[in-house]
Amino acid sequence: MGWFKRLKEGIQTATKHKKEVPDGVWFKCDACKETSTMKELKENFFMCPKCHYHVRIGSHDYFDMIFDEGTYEELFLTLKSYDFLEFTDLKPYKVRLEDAYEKNQVSEAITVACGKVMEKGLVVAAMDFSFIGGSMGSVVGEKIARATELALKKKIPLLIISRSGGARMQESAFSLMQLAKTSAMLTKLAKAKIPFFSLLTDPTTGGVTASFSMLGDLNFAEPNALIGFAGPRVIKETIKKDLPEGFQTSEFLLEHGFLDFILSRDQLRSKLSDLMDYLS
Ligand SMILES: [Zn+2]
Repeated sequence: MGWFKRLKEGIQTATKHKKEVPDGVWFKCDACKETSTMKELKENFFMCPKCHYHVRIGSHDYFDMIFDEGTYEELFLTLKSYDFLEFTDLKPYKVRLEDAYEKNQVSEAITVACGKVMEKGLVVAAMDFSFIGGSMGSVVGEKIARATELALKKKIPLLIISRSGGARMQESAFSLMQLAKTSAMLTKLAKAKIPFFSLLTDPTTGGVTASFSMLGDLNFAEPNALIGFAGPRVIKETIKKDLPEGFQTSEFLLEHGFLDFILSRDQLRSKLSDLMDYLS
């Protein structure tokens, strides 16, 4: 499973990568190289039926998995990023956005929905890595702020599912401001004693890890997800030392006290329901 792919030397975010879950009849697992059918994979919550590897999926797959059937509604769909800095790296940000709209079924790196989980209300904001590496720009920050406001207004819990390469560098300092903005909004939720659950999935890195992803009342992760601030290669080159085995995996973070638990995807819906019963 690739993370960021370096196309050329220099600072860049590669946005060309294969589709997360391929179409077709067969699925070949990146982890164990075994083949299953797509039907088997879907029925197994997009976990490899042979080795339990959690395949990267998008926001809508999580919504279908979490919410009671037909109860959720997508929100804030009219919010769209635009290139207010006229920023160009390898290509203009404007073109990057147009490419992302064309390739994706979602209109941003995060999608918000509100619905019911075993008849209890929940707001979910889920990130899509396929949209410019799940990067956090102004619209991602604004959608999280609005999702938080909605949870406050309805007095129901908030779940954020992170899958991100970090802040969106094409929005420069404006993307960094989202760290403060999202953190401030979540403080309001905490003051109102409304639960915030943070689910970290592969990969959760950079500015997202440095803000909302680690601020949950409960922080939990899918098995074997890459979670960190800087990537392992950058750290290794900086400290000039080998990193411990399993560094920056969910299991390593759990052992070192950064996570509350690790949750297999097939347990997600029932666990959320239990937590909502327990905390309400
Ligand atoms: Zn496998």
